[in-house]
Amino acid sequence: MKCAVLIVGAGSGERFGGDIPKQYQCINGVPIFRRTITCFLTHPQINSVFAVIASDARPHFAVAANGLAVNVVIGGATRTASVRAGLTALAVEAPDIVLIHDAARPFVSHQLISRLIDAASMDQGAAPGLAPTDALKTINTDGQVGGDVARDQLMQVQTPQVFPFAPLVQAYAQLPANAALADDIAVARSGRMPCTIIAGEVDNFKITHQDDLKRAERVLRPNGQKLCVTGTGFDVHRLIDGKSMTLCGVEIADGLALEGHSDADAALHALTDAMLGTIGAGDIGDHFPPTDRQWQNADSSLFLTAAHDMLIERGASLIHIDLTIICERPKIKPYREAMRARLATLLGLDMARVSVKATTTEKLGFPGRGEGLAALATASVQLLN
Ligand code: MG
Repeated sequence: MKCAVLIVGAGSGERFGGDIPKQYQCINGVPIFRRTITCFLTHPQINSVFAVIASDARPHFAVAANGLAVNVVIGGATRTASVRAGLTALAVEAPDIVLIHDAARPFVSHQLISRLIDAASMDQGAAPGLAPTDALKTINTDGQVGGDVARDQLMQVQTPQVFPFAPLVQAYAQLPANAALADDIAVARSGRMPCTIIAGEVDNFKITHQDDLKRAERVLRPNGQKLCVTGTGFDVHRLIDGKSMTLCGVEIADGLALEGHSDADAALHALTDAMLGTIGAGDIGDHFPPTDRQWQNADSSLFLTAAHDMLIERGASLIHIDLTIICERPKIKPYREAMRARLATLLGLDMARVSVKATTTEKLGFPGRGEGLAALATASVQLLN
């Protein structure tokens, strides 16, 4: 089935305000129109995308759609006239179905597009809708509440609205030249085409007022206003003969030890630096200098939990850690699960959020010659304020 999309963005967005029409304004640096077009260009069932724009918006559109494979049509004075112009331009494509969508709904999901294509047929239109959840009232001309409106037969209808192409073109052809209908479902029904409503999506809202931009930013940031950042850490300690070493707080008795002022747990040192990195709090040497005798032979889990306490004090929440230990010996794999469990306990994390990996350097460099052991760490945190 050949599917074409008509994205209607020829309006001036008078309710929105601002110097340029709302569909050309940006959410997190990307124009709304561009976001909307991209939703369809990246959907595998869509064959072509046409955008209907105002004639004086060409410069804005050129910037917004730069590099995108989209066809441009100049719209008319009303939405009905704009869609009519778009359908005329689409005739050369002769699609089986056409999806008509508002440029100012940039969060239409691939799942919703797929469900609409499934719901369309050669003799029926379909659109997404949401049942109203607030109480509905009529208002008198003096602003006083009139009566109640029953919700059970009402739907808030969104776009994309999907139709068999030829019958929709015919329905438009039968309209008076100056007709101005609310949407394409209204046009289809005027041509006696049956239309069905499928479940819409709350995030598929239409950007109408300035406040909607803030809502749009929240949609793009699934954790509300919470920002996630990542810190990295790296540490090396010399390998020497000895009874045992401690790595990730786990004792490994393999005839090797790590040389250092504290217990020389390179993995915990790298991880401590990664955590300090997420809050820009310097490095482990700033907080626990090796010149300070109190840290001699210290259990490095003290450094780790102190860094974790600093994160919490700064309003940050640790969400994930990932460690890579680089050495020829000892073999890490037999201890890996014990290391993950120890880190999870020390940091109050779910085991699923704790990763420990190991690698060698193919006998190259100081780890390859067995002179030292290196550890690389990342920590991801959510900043709560
Ligand atoms: Mg160290």
